[in-house]
Amino acid sequence: MATPDELLEFLPGSDCGQCGLTCAEFAAALSRGDLAPEDCPVLHEPDFAGFIDALHELLGPPAAPAPAMHLDPDRCNGCGICVAMCEYHLGNCDEARLGRGPRPADRVVFKVVNGAVVVLRQDLCTRLIQAAEKCNKCADHCPTGAITLT
Ligand code: SF4
Ligand code: SF4
Ligand code: SF4
Repeated sequence: MATPDELLEFLPGSDCGQCGLTCAEFAAALSRGDLAPEDCPVLHEPDFAGFIDALHELLGPPAAPAPAMHLDPDRCNGCGICVAMCEYHLGNCDEARLGRGPRPADRVVFKVVNGAVVVLRQDLCTRLIQAAEKCNKCADHCPTGAITLT
């Protein structure tokens, strides 16, 4: 990933303000992924042909979005199937391995509280481990489609 100073080399440098920023601020926004080279209108002028492609080359491929779990509380009926099937629970909680559900003291991704599942430690989900295969068990087994994994 290029630094903002390296990206600035391929911006017009005129601080024209059409993007609402200075060129240096635009370069910083590019490096954070908040803006794309195409957002600078001046780079679309013939004098800057090739600059947008050069900036894309410096920026490299866009980062993949972080895996995440979304739970729809209106769909969850509290059945607890996701808690019982969770890959992390089965690998780390003795009680879960025996099909009895985790104990209160166990570290768990989620558990059923008052008839609905509550996510407690999403960071334990194996999907967040970079090299891990992307587990989908909780979403696959949820009978109501309450869990979406991205
Ligand atoms: S529109 Fe382009 S040239 Fe103008 S300030 Fe923004 S980045 Fe610089
Ligand atoms: S499997 Fe689905 S419906 Fe059952 S507790 Fe989990 S999220 Fe709720
Ligand atoms: S995706 Fe995460 S929360 Fe769902 S079963 Fe797998 S490890 Fe558990």
